[in-house]
Amino acid sequence: MAKRQDFAEKVKKATIEKGVRCPVCNSQKVPTLFVNSIKTNLGSYKFKRTNIQVCKCNEKSIYN
Ligand SMILES: [Zn+2]
Repeated sequence: MAKRQDFAEKVKKATIEKGVRCPVCNSQKVPTLFVNSIKTNLGSYKFKRTNIQVCKCNEKSIYN
């Protein structure tokens, strides 16, 4: 049991170290695929997919 926990902790730590940390809110940035719908001049919609880094600074403006 103890060994399993150690392993989980190591993996968790490695994941955090690999990730990008935001210097503003000090939370880890999570890469998220964000789909943006854009209205064209013809009145139809097209979708633009962007891979963005989500942290506490911008999560509210994205998930509103
Ligand atoms: Zn941030």
